Amino acid sequence: MSDEEVEKTGGCLCGAVRYAFTGDAELGVQCYCLDCQKISGAGNLPQYVIKRARLTLLGQPTVHRRKSAAGNDLEIAFCPDCGSPIYKATSMAQDLIMLTVGTLDDPSMFSPTHKPYQQTRQPWDES
Ligand SMILES: [Zn+2]
Ligand SMILES: [Zn+2]
Repeated sequence: MSDEEVEKTGGCLCGAVRYAFTGDAELGVQCYCLDCQKISGAGNLPQYVIKRARLTLLGQPTVHRRKSAAGNDLEIAFCPDCGSPIYKATSMAQDLIMLTVGTLDDPSMFSPTHKPYQQTRQPWDES
């Protein structure tokens, strides 16, 4: 079986929202921007970026919409029940979806390739 066919899965803390996808990450983003700090409730938000067309959502996340600092339309999807952030999407790259790494069933498959917004990284965040 090729890696393209292996299904990977993830979901929120309570299990109300689950997802599945095939293929590997296009990018591994570990973002230190202030929005990502709010979304994660932590110092950064690790994101496993995949082609949106590869994602199958099971369950209905709540989607919060806002403008990014750069003026792009952002979507942040989270579980309406337990509040786990599930994914981010941006109008700047509509074919991509950024899964929050902590919701992957196997978060160890993440490896960061991009670490943007170092200027707002917290001094205590050594990741
Ligand atoms: Zn949940
Ligand atoms: Zn960010």
